Amino acid sequence: MKRKTVLLKVSFAAWVSILSMSLHAQEKEYPKPEPMTAGMSEYWTPQPRIVTPGEATENAFLTAPSDAIVLFDGKDLSAWENGKGEAAGWNVHDKVVTVVKGKGVIQTKQKFNDFQLHIEWSIPVGITGSSQGRGNSGVYLQGMYEVQVLDCYNNETYINGQTGSIYKQTPPLANAMRKPGEWNVYDIIYTAPVFKEDGTYRTPPRVTLLQNGILLLNNVTILGTTEYVGFPRVVKHGPGPIVLQDHGDPVSFRNIWIREL
Ligand code: MG
Repeated sequence: MKRKTVLLKVSFAAWVSILSMSLHAQEKEYPKPEPMTAGMSEYWTPQPRIVTPGEATENAFLTAPSDAIVLFDGKDLSAWENGKGEAAGWNVHDKVVTVVKGKGVIQTKQKFNDFQLHIEWSIPVGITGSSQGRGNSGVYLQGMYEVQVLDCYNNETYINGQTGSIYKQTPPLANAMRKPGEWNVYDIIYTAPVFKEDGTYRTPPRVTLLQNGILLLNNVTILGTTEYVGFPRVVKHGPGPIVLQDHGDPVSFRNIWIREL
């Protein structure tokens, strides 16, 4: 009897001790991550070297190849809608389409997986502003990953946010800008990600980009979403649209076509 009482006492004491530790663990404070700011993911050096593109002839690549899906041929935005699925509200004029500030993104009605995309864009003569505030737009691949469009002609910015960067991830290999008023050509080859069941990448998305015939991104791995503040996020998704960004600047686009791969 005496021994049994001792055992009971020990086990009661142990129970109190475990409860106390458990309460202590719940109350223990650990350091929290520092709040992220936009500047934490902006890198300014080394600035990519400037490469002057070859001369363009005025009638180069003004129509799509025979097996392409034409997304915009200068006539209308029938292949596009806004972010709410309503009619796209950008301005079609002079065989080009121009961002209308405040109308929001436009996106293709059709969704895509792997593709080759051709898109031409131009910054208006007399553009003002600096860094990210000058001729800013963007091409979102599968609606998820922004390839930056920006006037980087005599305009420096953080290099992982300049023309042809995967925004806030990978800077381009060169600065191949034509000046405002001239047309820049993007040719984008994109491989969609494959996801595991748990939503992480089995194979991440990859992209190759040429601007005006000059290689800017060479089969680069995309790490996740292109966030203004914070780290890329891996978000499981399926086929997605081509999305063009309204960043408030009057950037124009023309001759947009895509070949599914
Ligand atoms: Mg942009």
